[in-house]
Amino acid sequence: MSHVESAARRRDAAVRAAVRQGVVSADRPVVGLLDVPGIRAAAAALHSAFAQVSAPGADVLHTFAVKAAPLVPVLRLLAEEGLGAEVASPGELALARAAGVPPGRTVLDSPAKTPAELSEALALGVAVNADSREELTRLDGLLHDRHDTTSVPPLGLRVNPQVGGGSIGALSTATPTSKFGIPLRDEGAREWLVRAYAERPWLTRIHAHVGSQGCPLELMASGIRAVYELAEEVDEHVGARRIRAVDIGGGLPVNFASDDVTPTHAAYARLLGEAVPGLFDGRYGLVTEFGRSLLAKSGMVLARVEYAKSAGGRRIAVTHAGAQVAVRTVFAPEAWPLRVAVYDAWGRPKEGPPETQDVAGPCCFAGDLVAEGRSLPRLEAGDHVALLDTGAYYFSNHFAYNTLPRPGVYGYAEHQPPEGAHATPSVRFVPVRPPQSLDELVAESGGAHAVGLTGLR
Ligand SMILES: *Cc1c(COP(=O)(O)O)cnc(C)c1O
Repeated sequence: MSHVESAARRRDAAVRAAVRQGVVSADRPVVGLLDVPGIRAAAAALHSAFAQVSAPGADVLHTFAVKAAPLVPVLRLLAEEGLGAEVASPGELALARAAGVPPGRTVLDSPAKTPAELSEALALGVAVNADSREELTRLDGLLHDRHDTTSVPPLGLRVNPQVGGGSIGALSTATPTSKFGIPLRDEGAREWLVRAYAERPWLTRIHAHVGSQGCPLELMASGIRAVYELAEEVDEHVGARRIRAVDIGGGLPVNFASDDVTPTHAAYARLLGEAVPGLFDGRYGLVTEFGRSLLAKSGMVLARVEYAKSAGGRRIAVTHAGAQVAVRTVFAPEAWPLRVAVYDAWGRPKEGPPETQDVAGPCCFAGDLVAEGRSLPRLEAGDHVALLDTGAYYFSNHFAYNTLPRPGVYGYAEHQPPEGAHATPSVRFVPVRPPQSLDELVAESGGAHAVGLTGLR
């Protein structure tokens, strides 16, 4: 069975089992599901992709961009698969630590690090990429009193290679005016950067993250090439090997149109190997920070259809998955279309002649649609819909509209019966994140301060 077929088969088996085992039910009408073998396979494919193009024994650290799936058990699973963590806030750092990701395999990026966050990273031994000249000045201050800078974690600068944007403006990080990094092509910037490294022996990394969804691979590769050339220039200027590692960020786009994994990490690594061969000849360590491309294909949002109705001749399935879980898809449907797989009340794939339907969510605004005018087998109350490829960002970008709870997230894998037993594999679910309770919703909405405002006149 091909990789694609087996992913789809595992998914169908998981939906069937989720309905049977009550993981999704009338009382719990929306859940997130993560394909654990799928995540392990994606991590293994990432390792092998870069191993194929790197010199033997090269120092390669793959980190996972925590914002794509800020779930402690996921970070732990990925750590077991040999990945570190890229964090961009005290909260994400806390999740990585709770998952047991070692500080030496953690990278702190963010455009707005406070002095306290920088000090904490230095104390813990977490690598830091400074986002701006101003932040580098802060690092200077923090390191000023240290006589011995050999014990500081790897520190680097994030550079914006200004190679241009992709098709999604909000996700394009390498435009001339992007808010991230130190712009490389601004007047005088290159000379300033070379000097900044020359003056600071502890500045040993260089970082770029060119992406993400909607960016052509060639554009990403040209951005990495630009920072590699800067690293070469720094080393030449210093007359020694100063840059120890190039952090190439993440940003690999994901195919949301079918089960095909394209582009693959392998294709991107090959392209980088051709475009920037010197990066892989063993002189530089490599750090990566992929998020979406590691997790998207291994997750789905599974929701019950509460009602099926019609308006103005259009069939509308009112489900429990809308803007609260698929905020980007609902507000920017052109940029973030999702496949919707349909299952019956027992969780079996639903067949039938296609009909044009809207798939709506539970939120009280008219635009709360995850699919509009989609051709699907007729949906009825009690059926299920699965929003596919939602393993990355859909469990972090929840939206508290209508005080809808964050749904529970469960990991699944098939349990193989012992050799010779006449049983079909069964699917086992384990909790990743519990669904938010009503008490939690009240508490986070100021429940403890109910009378607070009444004391003011
Ligand atoms: C978001 C982000 C990533 C991950 O991006 P993906 O598109 O999910 O791969 C990596 N590095 C930085 C600095 C980021 O902001």
